[in-house]
Amino acid sequence: MKPLVALIGRTNVGKSTLFNRLTRQSRALVDDQPGVTRDRLYGDVTWEDHAFLLIDTGGFGDTEDALSSRVRQQAELAAGEADLVLFMVDGRQEIQPDDLEVAQYLRRSGKPVLLVINKIDGPKQETRLPEFYRFGLTPLFPISAQHGLGVGSLLDAVVRYLPAAPDAGEPPEGIRVAVLGRPNVGKSSFINRVLGEERLIVSDTPGTTRDAIDAPLIWDNRPYVLIDTAGIRRRSRIHQNLERGMIWQALRALQRAEVVLLLLDAQEGLTEQDLRILNFIAVAGKGCLIGVNKWDVVGKDSQTQKAALDRLNMGLQLISYAPVLPLSVLTGYQVSKVFPLLDEIYRQCQFRAATGELNRIFAQIVAAHPPPRYRHRSVKFYYLTQPDSRPPTFVAFTNIPGATPDSYRRYLINQLRERLGLPYAPIRLHFKGKK
Ligand code: GDP
Ligand code: GDP
Repeated sequence: MKPLVALIGRTNVGKSTLFNRLTRQSRALVDDQPGVTRDRLYGDVTWEDHAFLLIDTGGFGDTEDALSSRVRQQAELAAGEADLVLFMVDGRQEIQPDDLEVAQYLRRSGKPVLLVINKIDGPKQETRLPEFYRFGLTPLFPISAQHGLGVGSLLDAVVRYLPAAPDAGEPPEGIRVAVLGRPNVGKSSFINRVLGEERLIVSDTPGTTRDAIDAPLIWDNRPYVLIDTAGIRRRSRIHQNLERGMIWQALRALQRAEVVLLLLDAQEGLTEQDLRILNFIAVAGKGCLIGVNKWDVVGKDSQTQKAALDRLNMGLQLISYAPVLPLSVLTGYQVSKVFPLLDEIYRQCQFRAATGELNRIFAQIVAAHPPPRYRHRSVKFYYLTQPDSRPPTFVAFTNIPGATPDSYRRYLINQLRERLGLPYAPIRLHFKGKK
């Protein structure tokens, strides 16, 4: 598992600028559904022979909160879960009392913290640096996220603090499945049930520590790995702080998963927390099966069953590619369908198209419903490539890249999905200019 580095700081200090510079990826556009946040929350960073996961905690927290309490929340979250915290302040602004408070909190937490003073673009700003010693966090790391100044020294320091990458040995074989969901939806019941069934062979990987978190299992002669099961079993921790424990666990597990089983509670419908996890899954571009658990309590009447599914439908627009499976871990109803469906989802997420076929299909799609004009100019699409699978990612070359409205983009994605036979795959579609 890669170490986690959390980036915290108030809005506008330059977190996203640094984040983008370090992860060196433009913001990924995900399958467009209204409500899906496009900002990525975490990204991989490699420096020398180290790799870590950078989390922009600015993506968390409730927007209606006062700014200061949001920063404090971030600090708590980061101090609790990250291996290292980067606390970023704006080197051109006066120090805010709240920031001092956050610094104090972080110092007491005992977590390694690096104080990053951003927007130090030149000697003129450097003169203000001594002021920042008031934070009591030394050394200072003055940087210019925008121009890349000081970023190398910062990274050198970051990797010095990170634990050495453990020699994990051979990872267990099989499709890597993350079982996610809020507390009490039945995750541990599910895991225990599938691990306990007779036809399963559970092997304890030799040499794993008490923190062994991945549970390999064989289902119908096929290997799987249920990842991060410890996070689910670690009850006390989750109870301490339901919300935060869940989000971090979800993020960690998601990063390592190939497919996700998201469990919901049939009676309760979709909650705010479920929507948040759905959002993560969509942003991460992972294949997902939605298991509507506790179906036994819904009752046998088809009216009630329909009502239960309708309650979920609205929110599930967020991730329209995920199939929905009512099930009951308690009675075993439809549990046997979970793994075959995950197989199919996994297969679709790995899809790679033949170029010729892809462009024949794309031409048909565009001809059937041409793109709308843009400021009196006609928009043309030339061809489509697939630079990546996992998830299937397409690039459409067009004369005006910024001209495609969301509705047309959705049309293209839906058509690709239908004609390529990928109903369950998250699909990414980017537009690129070509004269
Ligand atoms: P966030 O809200 O913390 O994610 O901040 P952003 O990354 O969105 O940056 C806020 C503003 O500060 C943007 O206008 C950036 O262009 C600007 N900014 C970021 N880094 C630097 C820097 O190193 N120098 C200067 N002068 N401006 C910066
Ligand atoms: P977790 O917190 O997501 O791991 O949830 P648990 O597996 O601990 O389950 C929470 C509660 O829901 C327990 O009391 C389970 O017995 C119950 N539960 C789990 N699955 C089902 C189900 O299919 N039907 C019913 N009626 N209860 C269930």
